[in-house]
Amino acid sequence: MTFVWLSLWNEIATREGTHMLDDLNNNNILFATGLKVDNFDVISNAKRVQIKQFVSMPNVQHYRILGRIEKIYEEHLWIYKCKTCFREVENQYDWIFCSQCGEDVETTTTFFNIKMVIKDCTGSMELLVKHTKAEFILRCVPSDLKKLMLKENGVQILKEYLSQFYGHTYVFIIPAPQPMNHEHCVSVVTFVLKVDWSEECLHISKGISRTGKEPMRSS
Ligand SMILES: [Zn+2]
Repeated sequence: MTFVWLSLWNEIATREGTHMLDDLNNNNILFATGLKVDNFDVISNAKRVQIKQFVSMPNVQHYRILGRIEKIYEEHLWIYKCKTCFREVENQYDWIFCSQCGEDVETTTTFFNIKMVIKDCTGSMELLVKHTKAEFILRCVPSDLKKLMLKENGVQILKEYLSQFYGHTYVFIIPAPQPMNHEHCVSVVTFVLKVDWSEECLHISKGISRTGKEPMRSS
C-alpha cells in the first residue's frame, strides 16, 4: 500500500476537507485535478537507515529514519516571519523593523521551529522540525501553545503538553548530512510521516529472508 499526503488550503480545506473527514472510514474513491505533486520523489527515493548509519554516502540525498521522540526542547518552539516578505525577524512586538523590507512592519506570523531528540535502537539524534511538520506532530498550531503559556503555571502546562508526545514514533525524511560537519549540525526534517507498521514489518521480513539474519532489536 502506498500512502499519499494530501494538503488542502483555504475554502477547499473547509468545504471538501470537511466532507472528506466525515467520510473517512467509508473507503471512498477520491478524484482530484489541478494538484501540485510535491515531495513524492524525496519520500520514495529516501534510503532507509538507522540513526548510527546517518552519515554522508555517495548518491544518497535523503534518508528515512524510523525514530521515537525522546525529548522536545520547550525553549525555542517558534520563529517569527515578516508578513510582507516572509523573512525571519528577531522578535514579536507590536511593531518590528524588518531589514529586508527596510521599514517597521506591524505584525509578524509565527511558525513552529521545534528542536527535538529522536532515538532508535542504534542511537539518538537532534532534529529541527518546522512549520506544518511540527503542527502534525504537536497536533496544534503555535497560537494554541501560546494560549497554554498564558495560563497560570503556563510553563509547566506547556512541558506536560509536549511530554505527551514522548515515545511517539514517526518516519522522518531527512537530507543526507554534509560531509565533514554533520556531527555539529542539527538536521532539518524535510517530511514527517505516520508509520505504516504493516509496511515496516514487510520490510523486516524481506530483510530476514534475504540475509537470514534478524535485524537489531529495538531497545
Ligand atoms: Zn519584511
